[in-house]
Amino acid sequence: MTVCNACRYCEGFCAVFPAMERRLTFSDPDLKYLANLCHNCRGCYYACQYAPPHEFALNVPKALGELRLETWREFAWPRFFRGLFRHGGPTVWLAAAVPAAIVLLLVLVFQGPGALIHLQAGRAGFYGVIPYKLMVVPFSGLGLLVLAALLVEFARFWRETGGRLAELAGPGALLPAIWDALRLKYLDGGGHGCNYPDDRFSHNRRWLHHFVFYGFLLCFLSTTVAAILEHLLGRRAPYRFLSWPVVLGTMGGLSLLVGTGGLLYLKGKMDPRPAASGASELDVGFLVMLFLTSLTGLLLLILRQTPVMGLLLAVHVGIVAGLFITLPYGKFVHAVYRFAALARNAVERSREEDH
Ligand code: SF4
Ligand code: SF4
Repeated sequence: MTVCNACRYCEGFCAVFPAMERRLTFSDPDLKYLANLCHNCRGCYYACQYAPPHEFALNVPKALGELRLETWREFAWPRFFRGLFRHGGPTVWLAAAVPAAIVLLLVLVFQGPGALIHLQAGRAGFYGVIPYKLMVVPFSGLGLLVLAALLVEFARFWRETGGRLAELAGPGALLPAIWDALRLKYLDGGGHGCNYPDDRFSHNRRWLHHFVFYGFLLCFLSTTVAAILEHLLGRRAPYRFLSWPVVLGTMGGLSLLVGTGGLLYLKGKMDPRPAASGASELDVGFLVMLFLTSLTGLLLLILRQTPVMGLLLAVHVGIVAGLFITLPYGKFVHAVYRFAALARNAVERSREEDH
């Protein structure tokens, strides 16, 4: 950062360089903030005259990427789980396989093999495989735990980087941060796209990320609408093809399939030199979990009137449980930290304008 602060060639690429220029020295919290403000567009690696083979061997995306992983480990809650960030790959595979196997086993033991392989059409279909209370109570508890872990991680990062609670309440932090996040502003590399998967400029990664982001939101919306129909209006799943939960879930699932599939393809072709060590495992694990969640969800929708509905439901519920469990200890947390860094950046920008 000290070399960059003297050079300043990359100042138009993203928010990191203007934020860096507001500082003369760099404390640990400053660096953690800058690391999470970086969107890993890689522009500053290919543009840098001090990148390898220069003797300075500057590699800003790699250095910031590795520091990002360190901050995620440092602020993880409960601390006991911070080691999961070091074993992102195996953790995710276990998280996908173990809950799916447990749900299958429980259905077999308590409901019998008929629940998995018989036609379960009609209003009581899904709950004929997994009873209503067993579906709602564990997922509500898990959802609250995940939310608590993510809030604690956000709060720890915000406090460490010098933020105050009052700053978050003002419009100067949240609204610009939400606007920057919704547009993925800093994945456009200053307008020409990022250098991903190689040194050529491209907007593909940004668009694929949009598919994932908005697909995730649509699936979340679909689940929320389904919960309202179920719990407030007493209308039990499964719902008609042209109902709000199914339409939103289908759009979200397809969007997730396109986004995660495309990002996995690009990852297979990416230049590994600007990549942080250990980051790819987390990225791939999270993308695969999202891909499997949307794939099994869509298959369940298409095949819900067939004999394999019970089997598909058990596998889908198990994979969703695995996805939930790993949310605070995997790649998903980049959304939390990056949003916090964008909010911090918005506060700094507004202070600068006031002066
Ligand atoms: S990454 Fe290289 S070119 Fe860019 S500001 Fe830093 S030193 Fe300058
Ligand atoms: S990789 Fe992109 S977002 Fe990160 S510091 Fe470099 S130019 Fe900025």
